[in-house]
Amino acid sequence: MPEHTVDALVVGAGAGGLFAAARLAHAGYRTLVVERLDKVGGRASTTDIDGFKVNDGAIVIEVGGITEETFAEVGAEFDIRTPEVPVLYRVGDRNLDVTRGGWGLLLSKLTRQGAKLLNGIGAARKDDDALPGSELSTADWVAKYTKNEAVQGVFRNMCASVFAVGSEELPARVFLTYFTRKSAFKRFGFCPAGTIGIWEALAATVTARGGEIWLSSEVETLQVTNGRVTGATVLHAGERVEVTCGVAVSDAGPAATMALAGEEHLPEEYCEQVRAKDRPCSMLAVNFASREPLTEVPGLLLFSKSERLCYIANFTETCPEMAPPGWHLYVGASVPNPSVGDFDEDAEIALLKKDLATQLPGFDDARILSTAVMRDGWPPQRAVAGYDLPSDTPIPNLWNVGDGVKEYANGGTTACAETAKLVVERIKAEHPLGAAV
Ligand SMILES: Cc1cc2nc3c(=O)[nH]c(=O)nc-3n(C[C@H](O)[C@H](O)[C@H](O)COP(=O)(O)OP(=O)(O)OC[C@H]3O[C@@H](n4cnc5c(N)ncnc54)[C@H](O)[C@@H]3O)c2cc1C
Repeated sequence: MPEHTVDALVVGAGAGGLFAAARLAHAGYRTLVVERLDKVGGRASTTDIDGFKVNDGAIVIEVGGITEETFAEVGAEFDIRTPEVPVLYRVGDRNLDVTRGGWGLLLSKLTRQGAKLLNGIGAARKDDDALPGSELSTADWVAKYTKNEAVQGVFRNMCASVFAVGSEELPARVFLTYFTRKSAFKRFGFCPAGTIGIWEALAATVTARGGEIWLSSEVETLQVTNGRVTGATVLHAGERVEVTCGVAVSDAGPAATMALAGEEHLPEEYCEQVRAKDRPCSMLAVNFASREPLTEVPGLLLFSKSERLCYIANFTETCPEMAPPGWHLYVGASVPNPSVGDFDEDAEIALLKKDLATQLPGFDDARILSTAVMRDGWPPQRAVAGYDLPSDTPIPNLWNVGDGVKEYANGGTTACAETAKLVVERIKAEHPLGAAV
């Protein structure tokens, strides 16, 4: 079998894997990334459909937080364009811009009880003791203040857009921590090449520093000897390669990592925890295009009243390159009910399309490019926020990154950037370059 020796092996070139790989290569570790697919980006990649850059999952990238900071640190181009107004809220038949008025303006337009709810958010912002316990759902927390359906709808759709679960399934403590203590996607934008563009830029910094990215390749097993990962068997370019490594970082999700390392090498208590927390969320997306503009909203439009539709994104207003000339490109997304566990796919697709037809005159004549159902092994979030596993494992040189091991109350690619930073800091401290690799 051919052999290959690296300091750091990264399983998977999704957001988590590439954030980690870029940091490792930047720190001087000889880094190999192995990716099963023929492109980078994983669930935040992009597919070209007849010249339309259709995102496979993630559509918006946070600006000004840990994501942009990572790109700056490793010297990768951060080609993100922010829409003129990032989010509008559909309240009645108006699209409300709350850029300046924030929660206060939004809630005051929705209900007379807005002030009470605003006080509840204010209290949570000031005082950790005012945060509810993790058993109270966001929907139940809102219901303490108001029964107004539009308010419940906005909270439901915010939970769906950020965390890929309904407000009934997200702990209020997570929601409030995110919106009062985290960067909370206040500023974001689209990549004109489709979201894959930023992962290609990050991957380029790995190879520029002598690292390698093996696409269409698969880590079949991680070798564990005397309680440590010593290497991996990788299927690459049609042959099996024995890779020797000093540390391994897996972006495949904790359950897949456990299978790669072999349960026999992990304590049963840890395996039980991984099995119990393997509860991926689900999401649906309809990608569509039209010759005539269907909305004047420049970025995202969130809904206060809909059966399923949580947002519509208008890409081409900010990034006309994402569609062939003369076309407008959109996506509409929903979270099914229930968002964790089994659901009726056909019924959920029908509900999403019905909402799109109701909310967007002209949708019925639009060209549907794809209808995606993300669930199970290819979910929008591998773990419901608040129920993540830790990024370290009982094997001291094996870590998980990605959205199954998010820091508390974080989500999406931002959470992937945060975890990757923490993991690489641990690697640098515990496995410094040149030591036992
Ligand atoms: C519809 C939808 C909308 C979303 N919107 C946003 C958004 O707007 N903004 C945002 O920030 N987030 C969004 N998200 C969430 C975001 O896409 C994910 O949180 C993120 O992409 C997860 O990245 P990851 O690195 O954890 O995992 P993944 O993307 O799943 O990467 C893991 C990679 O590992 C590879 N792999 C697995 N096993 C092996 C193996 N044995 N060998 C080799 N390779 C392997 C896989 O092929 C994959 O490419 C959205 C998700 C969906 C579905």
